[in-house]
Amino acid sequence: MTYSYDAPVSQTLFDRAAVVTPGGVNSPVRAFRAVGGTPRFMVSGTGPYLTDADGREYVDLVCSWGPMILGHAHPAVTEAVLGAVARGTSFGTPGQGEVELAEEIVARITPVDQVRLVSSGTEATMSAIRLARGFTGRAKVVKFAGCYHGHVDALLASAGSGVATFGLPDTPGVTGAQAGETVVLPYNDLDAVRAAFEAHPGEIACVITEASPGNMGVVPPREGFNAGLRELCHRHGALFVSDEVMTGFRVSREGWYGIDGVAPDLMTFGKVMGGGFPAAAFGGRADVMGRLAPAGPVYQAGTLSGNPVATAAGVAQLRLLDDAAYAAVDAASRQVRSLVTEALSREGVAHRLQTAGNMFSVFFTDREVTDYEGARAQEAFRFTAFFHSMLEQGVYLPPSAFESWFVSASHDDRAIERVAAALPAAARAAAQAHDESAV
Ligand SMILES: *Cc1c(COP(=O)(O)O)cnc(C)c1O
Repeated sequence: MTYSYDAPVSQTLFDRAAVVTPGGVNSPVRAFRAVGGTPRFMVSGTGPYLTDADGREYVDLVCSWGPMILGHAHPAVTEAVLGAVARGTSFGTPGQGEVELAEEIVARITPVDQVRLVSSGTEATMSAIRLARGFTGRAKVVKFAGCYHGHVDALLASAGSGVATFGLPDTPGVTGAQAGETVVLPYNDLDAVRAAFEAHPGEIACVITEASPGNMGVVPPREGFNAGLRELCHRHGALFVSDEVMTGFRVSREGWYGIDGVAPDLMTFGKVMGGGFPAAAFGGRADVMGRLAPAGPVYQAGTLSGNPVATAAGVAQLRLLDDAAYAAVDAASRQVRSLVTEALSREGVAHRLQTAGNMFSVFFTDREVTDYEGARAQEAFRFTAFFHSMLEQGVYLPPSAFESWFVSASHDDRAIERVAAALPAAARAAAQAHDESAV
């Protein structure tokens, strides 16, 4: 595929980056490999807009993969961050900001009695499964194909996100021993979970699932799926671990738990709770969290955990996330969704727009997608054409057909009108796209 537009400054930066960084990026999906073309190097963001190194402005429908739920450079978050920076950026001691952030999380999320702060979602899930293993004295972890829990060795089997984009069944560097205790099952399939518990009696420490998956595109749990997981876990003495790194504080005040009300034993958070900084957390039942060092024997630590700048950003953002803010995010999501469906339908493009609260994504297929296999069966080449048309017209979508789209409370009528104006041509491009990989 050739592109009718270019981005010379981004291209120069990408060339320089490729010399000093593998593939030119610090996280694989950013390299645009799934869609081709030159990744845009962004230099600034304000509200719903991003500006790239070539001076082009985009309506941002990625929002840093979720965190920027109030829009870029929100004045109150910026002020909190500047204040924190001026007081010193890291002490290696306990501090007030981390108490405030932990209190904010515990106050919002009923099943969370205690939290431990870490610096990334990966650390949160890695630590949560270590704690589940330490608590239960069992080794095996059940995960679902297409669910991404960060790049934790044991959880990289059949993961979504960048791993879905690259179609890697596995990654070199993860040993059989590290992945060998991981049982991978099809998503939304409770019978498979039942069978796994029967096949491995007394061996499964936990079932970990995305509360509502967004890393294979948006594939919400079937009615009763999470409740069924919880029930099966408890019947078999395992912990139910809900990964809310993406959904937490995004799809409602209480994340996905606020939507389905199924109480997990452990939960993981990241993205929104850091306000654009590296802050993440895992938390849950007091008796389980009480096994964590120094209260208990399960070791976990971090030099920058609870960093004062990151916690200031997180606290400021969470305090601004009231009912009105969620109503604004939900309304923007509804508007974009209906515009996308309208444009694609008008061009006769087979598609399914799937939603989970205010998260959504488009699958280029006419079948409902309920698992990873279904997600991969879509005509991803149509997304590629759609993506580039939107990009050319100043709308920044996730550069992969296997990712959620994100809006913010700052996506106002002007931003949404720009999306609306770009959609007809993008839908036409999707309709006319050819599968270049087909022989
Ligand atoms: C993003 C994400 C992670 C990993 O978080 P990082 O901060 O990128 O390490 C884990 N789980 C889910 C569900 C995610 O969406």
